[in-house]
Amino acid sequence: MNPTSLDLSRIGLAKGLRVILALVALMGWGVVLGSGEALAAQRVLFLSSFHKDLPAQRQLEAGFTRVLGASAAMNDVYVEFLDSQRLPQQDVIEGMVALIERKYRNVRFDAVIAWGLPAARFAASIRHTIGHPRLIFVEVDKDAAASLSDPAEDDLTIVASPQYAESLAEALRISRVERLVVIGDTKTTTGQIRLAGFREGLARLGRTIPVDEVFDRPLDEVVERSAHLPPGSAIFYLLTFSDGRGHNLTPFAAAQQISAVANAPIFTAWESLMGSGVIGGRVLSMDMVGEGLGKIVLALQQGLRASPPDSVMRTVYDWPQLEHWGWDESMLPAGAVVLNRSPSLLQQYYWQILTIVIFIAVLSILAAFLARAVQTRNSALMALSKERTLLAQRVTERTAELARSNAELEQFAYAASHDLRQPLRMVSSYLTLTRRKLGPSLDDEVAEFIAFAVDGAKRMDAMINGLLDYARVGRSGDAFKMVSLVEVVGEALTNLQVAIQEARGMVTVAPDLPSIQGIPLELVRLFQNLIGNALKYVSEGRLPEVSIGWSEDEKTDLVWVADNGIGIDAADRERVFGVFQRLVAQDRFEGTGIGLALCRKIVEHHGGRIWIEDNPSGGSVFKIQFQKYRS
Ligand code: ADP
Repeated sequence: MNPTSLDLSRIGLAKGLRVILALVALMGWGVVLGSGEALAAQRVLFLSSFHKDLPAQRQLEAGFTRVLGASAAMNDVYVEFLDSQRLPQQDVIEGMVALIERKYRNVRFDAVIAWGLPAARFAASIRHTIGHPRLIFVEVDKDAAASLSDPAEDDLTIVASPQYAESLAEALRISRVERLVVIGDTKTTTGQIRLAGFREGLARLGRTIPVDEVFDRPLDEVVERSAHLPPGSAIFYLLTFSDGRGHNLTPFAAAQQISAVANAPIFTAWESLMGSGVIGGRVLSMDMVGEGLGKIVLALQQGLRASPPDSVMRTVYDWPQLEHWGWDESMLPAGAVVLNRSPSLLQQYYWQILTIVIFIAVLSILAAFLARAVQTRNSALMALSKERTLLAQRVTERTAELARSNAELEQFAYAASHDLRQPLRMVSSYLTLTRRKLGPSLDDEVAEFIAFAVDGAKRMDAMINGLLDYARVGRSGDAFKMVSLVEVVGEALTNLQVAIQEARGMVTVAPDLPSIQGIPLELVRLFQNLIGNALKYVSEGRLPEVSIGWSEDEKTDLVWVADNGIGIDAADRERVFGVFQRLVAQDRFEGTGIGLALCRKIVEHHGGRIWIEDNPSGGSVFKIQFQKYRS
């Protein structure tokens, strides 16, 4: 639809116009069936007696366009509104005649649809000026249509007035009331027609029922009465067009006022009142009328015989009113239409519910992901702890194994060293005996050989002794106890007295050496070895100077033995702690090479550490670090 409007107040019309024809709207509807050149376009003028915003008008248009709208363009249907309910008929007709003559001077209509008596009269009066079209009357009494001037043979009439008998029968069926209150205006011609129809319908019901007629009363009085009807009543609404005090109003607006207070359900015969508070019933459907008209126009366009629809009545109920009066849908006849049904909870809260569902779904997915992640992490942690346990078990096993094999090895070394001494002693004693026996017959060279052999045996004995000492470290079974290093060093010096004197060495000892946890014999041996070496490994012609000092920190005591000797290359400082490792020739400095190995073993047995540094003033410093607290 392409609505256009025309301000008729500007057009000069016949004198004495009391009302301005401002509300005559123009709406262009056209129908082109689009079925090719074979069809002659049929121009149709649709004249409505009413206003374009009237509910009935809108419903009719809905049915009409449903049939025509989908078929093709609607270029050949023209619509005009007389708006006769609000404007004096005579003026409207004069004004419309002038308008139509001007507007459609060059248009020839094939058909005019006239809805309502005013439009029918008008259509009949202008028929000759617009090309003598056929007339299709809607909601016009057959007699009234026939009485109009100049009827044509192919004129059509769609009755489009309610079948009151049907409406009344449905109202009484569903409500089971014992009395009816009928409200309406009956003074106008159409009012009289409605009243006659109603009475005829009542008569055709075939049963008597008390009827209170509330006709042509002021609306406020009607409203007041509606609020206090006796129980078991139902209202039948026959349309009211004025408030009875000089103001026009639409039947819809009047129904709204009545239904707002009525203490009985309001039945009616017009679907256009649905939504005003009436409950409905068997009603005339302007939608069906519009559909019928649409089909007639289609038939005309296609050159077919046009005929009015069989019925334009259907059963329609208002859902809120059904709820209000407590009538179940199961009471409605088959095919009944229920309007204004309140949406279901799902429809009402569709977006909220959808949002919540999506939210829950997203949360569930997140939760699933989290659960999976936690599960994966847990199993990884479990695997890790299993591995750790296994590893710890293995370390314990290996450590025990190592300790066992160490012990075995030491046992072996000890036994071997011990047993080796016996044959060695035999070698040296028999060599000594041999030398003694041969006595003077021994020549110098042989005597020297024997001396070498005896010397070798002695050295070997010393080495074996050293090995035995080495093996014995940690095997004495003595318990650890607090030992004063002052005493330990003092005893070592006593044992070394001869060596010190021979070397003319000078030994300085810090007077406040600390006490540590240890085994006295082992510690004496440790310091005795270190001080002995310090006195021994000195360049020729140099007098040994040895100093023993210490320092401490929070956790450790550091004791050192510093000398002014020949020093030890940085590269050899680890090697000298090995068994039988010597850096010097035997003929220069005697020794077995076991002393420092023994020292390291003793220090480690005491949980400490030993290493060598350069003495800045020349020589070496042997440093020993003891833990202050042994666990
Ligand atoms: P030994 O003294 O019987 O040879 P040690 O194990 O005590 O065996 O010493 C190993 C070697 O370390 C020695 O042969 C010597 O070369 C070197 N050494 C030990 N103490 C010192 C020192 N104070 N100064 C220089 N060299 C040393």
